[in-house]
Amino acid sequence: ERKRWDGIWLAGQRDTDPDTIFDKIVAKEISAGIVRETDDILAFTDINPAAPAHILVIPKNRNGLSRLQKATPEHVEILGKLMVVAGEIARDESLGFGPDGARIVVNDGPAAGQEVPHLHIHVIGGRAMAWPPG
Ligand code: C5P
Repeated sequence: ERKRWDGIWLAGQRDTDPDTIFDKIVAKEISAGIVRETDDILAFTDINPAAPAHILVIPKNRNGLSRLQKATPEHVEILGKLMVVAGEIARDESLGFGPDGARIVVNDGPAAGQEVPHLHIHVIGGRAMAWPPG
C-alpha cells in the first residue's frame, strides 16, 4: 500500500498538485451518484450532464495523473482498468446507455476544456453525438 507524505507518494509517481473536488468525492466527504466502485476506481454521475447519460470514471488515487499526458509506463495497469470500467458502463442500459454506443473521451488540458486536474474518463450517451466535437 502506498503512503502519502507532503504531497509525495513515497512509492511511485510524485504528485505535488493540490487535491481536487474528486478527492473529496473519493473520500465520501461530498456526495455523488456513485455507480461503480472498486479498490482503485470510482465511477459517478456527472453533476452537469452533457447528455441523458453521463458518467465519470476516475482512479481513486491520482498518482500523478492530473491529465492523461502525464501518463507513464507506471500507469499502464490503472489505465487499462479505467478503460474496462468505461466499457462496462457504456453497455449498462440501466444507466441510460443504449445499444448504439456512447462517446468515451478524456479532455487533456485547457484547450480541450479540462476543468478538474484529476484524470477522468467521460462516458456520455443516451443520444446521438456529433463529430467533430466543438
Ligand atoms: O473534462 P473536464 O475536466 O472538463 O470535466 C470535469 C467534469 O466534472 C465536468 O463535466 C463537471 O460537470 C464534472 N464535475 C462533477 N462534480 C463536481 C465537479 C465537476 O461531476 N463536483
